[in-house]
Amino acid sequence: MHPETVAVHAGRPSREPDGPMSTPVHLASTFHEGGPTAYGRYGNPSWTAFEEALGALEGGGCVAFASGMGAISAVLALVPTGGVVVAPRHSYTGTIGLLDDLALTRDVSVRFVDVRDAEAVADAARGADLVWVESPTNPALEVADLDAIGRAAREAGALFAVDNTFATPLLQRPLESGADLVVHSATKSISGHSDVVMGAVIARDDDLRDRIATRRSLGGAIPGPLDAFLALRGLRTLPVRLERAQANARELAARFADHPALEEVRYPGFGTIVSIVIGGGADAAERVATSTRVWVHSTSLGGVESQLERRRRWPAEAQTIPEGLIRLSVGLEHVDDLARDLEQALARATDPGDDGAPDPPPRSVPPAAAGY
Ligand SMILES: *Cc1c(COP(=O)(O)O)cnc(C)c1O
Repeated sequence: MHPETVAVHAGRPSREPDGPMSTPVHLASTFHEGGPTAYGRYGNPSWTAFEEALGALEGGGCVAFASGMGAISAVLALVPTGGVVVAPRHSYTGTIGLLDDLALTRDVSVRFVDVRDAEAVADAARGADLVWVESPTNPALEVADLDAIGRAAREAGALFAVDNTFATPLLQRPLESGADLVVHSATKSISGHSDVVMGAVIARDDDLRDRIATRRSLGGAIPGPLDAFLALRGLRTLPVRLERAQANARELAARFADHPALEEVRYPGFGTIVSIVIGGGADAAERVATSTRVWVHSTSLGGVESQLERRRRWPAEAQTIPEGLIRLSVGLEHVDDLARDLEQALARATDPGDDGAPDPPPRSVPPAAAGY
């Protein structure tokens, strides 16, 4: 069946007279003895419904987590002490933070690569335990050749894991390109309404799925039953949300391609994220990001609401990301309203709009929030 149909119907209870059409929120910490679930840290029917649906879309066995980082931690825990990981130099900041931590605490060495260069990735994969890929990368929007990297990882005998948060299973199914594991921040497009923090790992086979599920039970990064319910409800409409948001993103990338306030418009040709680079650097970009009325100035992405932020405001963001780069997460509003709002905000890039007093420094973030 087509993914649109799978998204609507997978993970539903069996069709029985007066049975519910949706799996309810199972608020229970423990279960009557004798079944496979037993305890609320090992399983919950509300997780299972979500896992069946996302697993069906990706084509593997799904394990839900409390967050995308919980999912990523479970996969990186498969790397042995002293092991080698290949990773994109522009991975999500939390992933980089976790890899830095593994390097310090477990002697793991990380080979950072440009994921656009499949040969460089193949070279780095030799002798590696895990090849980790994000595509498109966050927020540089570099695209990897997953088939080529999948072949190289298999030849090298390395596990191959893909963070599929940006593309979603509607646009990219990494398990079909030879990935062993797929990871999602379900906080983003999967749930899609900016009201849930959740993650998931989808494994190619039962053995890997069981190892990941054991990590979840031991690590305890379990989702709440209500979160799983909400994430599944969001997933039901992913295909239509994605279609609209992607059409908006394409249209905006085209309309703003030659805008005089922009040094660059990056759009990989698919997906809902567009990165723009403001001429004038950090100050000008901060003025733009804080001057919108429709676009929401906030971190995160993939919601029905269009969001934007200057990524380098986070100290943990890669230093090779331009200071003036603003990541646009395009939502479901009318594209003309989004374009008009962005246009008026971009006018602030060159016009501070004040009495000539010096610009305030770019908005700082609380010291505790490095951007992981
Ligand atoms: C947000 C994000 C994560 C982290 O997910 P959380 O749900 O915030 O823990 C991981 N990878 C990518 C690509 C992300 O955008």
